[in-house]
Amino acid sequence: MSKPSRIKLPPLAECDNPLCNDGLIQGTFHTDVCFKCEGAGVIAKDSGEAIHRDVLIAAMKQCIKQQRNQIRELKRQLVAQDEAVDRYRGMSSRLGGKHRMD
Ligand SMILES: [Zn+2]
Repeated sequence: MSKPSRIKLPPLAECDNPLCNDGLIQGTFHTDVCFKCEGAGVIAKDSGEAIHRDVLIAAMKQCIKQQRNQIRELKRQLVAQDEAVDRYRGMSSRLGGKHRMD
């Protein structure tokens, strides 16, 4: 059996348990995992049930990977912009600053 390349997440909705706060229920003396969303903070929009852990973990890992790639790309763009803006690049350093020699 081949492994699926992408996990399809069903449309999500915020957990409708009024006591749920991002998957956690704050008690007086302790904090519990929400019984409705099983700690995810989200439920399937159409069925109103918790998303199975296997699907949720795989989808979250994909999401983290996409965001890491996006951060890497944004950092690369930022470095490219900084290098384009640095007009004194390549000039000699003298007395703690760039010496333009003009
Ligand atoms: Zn919940």
